Amino acid sequence: MRFCDNSDISPAEEEQIRRGAEIIRSGGVVAFPTETVYGLGANAFDEDAVKKIFELKGRPQDNPLIIHIAKKEDVFLVAREIPKNAEILIDKFWPGPLTLVLPKNPSVPDIVTANLDTVAVRMPNHKIALKLIELSAVPISAPSANISGKPSATKPEHVKKYFGDKVFIIEGEVKIGIESTVIDLTVSPPVILRPGGISKEMIEKEIGRVDVLADSDVKIAKSPGIKYKHYSPNSDVYIFMNRKDILKFLEFERSKLSGKKVLVALFRYLGEEGEKIRDMGFNITLSGRTLEDFARNLFNLLIVAGETYDIIIFEGVEERGIGLGIMNRLKKAGKKMFY
Ligand code: AMP
Ligand code: MG
Repeated sequence: MRFCDNSDISPAEEEQIRRGAEIIRSGGVVAFPTETVYGLGANAFDEDAVKKIFELKGRPQDNPLIIHIAKKEDVFLVAREIPKNAEILIDKFWPGPLTLVLPKNPSVPDIVTANLDTVAVRMPNHKIALKLIELSAVPISAPSANISGKPSATKPEHVKKYFGDKVFIIEGEVKIGIESTVIDLTVSPPVILRPGGISKEMIEKEIGRVDVLADSDVKIAKSPGIKYKHYSPNSDVYIFMNRKDILKFLEFERSKLSGKKVLVALFRYLGEEGEKIRDMGFNITLSGRTLEDFARNLFNLLIVAGETYDIIIFEGVEERGIGLGIMNRLKKAGKKMFY
């Protein structure tokens, strides 16, 4: 699941990264790939530049941004204190898809942290992201590169669809496909505010017990962004935990569904039920052959199928490992739920 991005940067990539870094240094906004999703970045220490991110996305001002750094020791530029468990997690999981919420360094503008006394920071494991931060010579604050409320971008063409020519896009590949795990280390026990690429199980192995923010606690969440509508494609999204229930639903609701374009996304294999669904005339796709595959495909599926289908029906997955992150995004994308 973890990988180390040591691959070489081609001259064409380097050219794009240099241009991106110039834009960041002169107070602009750049879309760039990370291992999780595409980011929309600006100099974290430039209040006016950061403001542009909020404006472009239509992001509520009370939803703070994650700061991205290229060297572990740069965490001191943005955090005022590094607790022992942070040190352990940094050693183990950086560079990687784990964001730490730490006490904020006063040098970070309030707009980045939405006036909170804490700051979210991570070191991405992506050669292009790391080189961009290094050449910009400043930490880069970057949320996902989507219009607020829409599914996150995982390909350059998604970013283009959302922002047209308004932002410079550095092309590259996203390997994980869902956003980083966010863990609040300013409380005891620490709390996972958003599940992602680094699972609860992996974290607990390093620092012992951690809690996961329950869906029911979202309204009073310490992570303000979590309460907002998220990942919503243009279609209705339904999630079923059992594919037999998908079949039943399609049979019972057949007359209501006639005339609607329906896509059924099954996990791992087509199987007997899949064949029946197909024979009933519904469109079928595989969400992925593994959980990692599913995570990588998820936002592309929501964005692309969202343009064609009225309804997307997903077969859900077990909420373990990266499955917890997948189900977290799916439930937010889903307008209706069936179990
Ligand atoms: P995005 O980068 O758009 O995927 O969103 C960043 C996520 O990190 C949101 O869920 C934010 O609420 C969360 N976040 C950023 N800064 C903080 C912070 N200081 N405390 C808690 N959560 C944060
Ligand atoms: Mg986002």
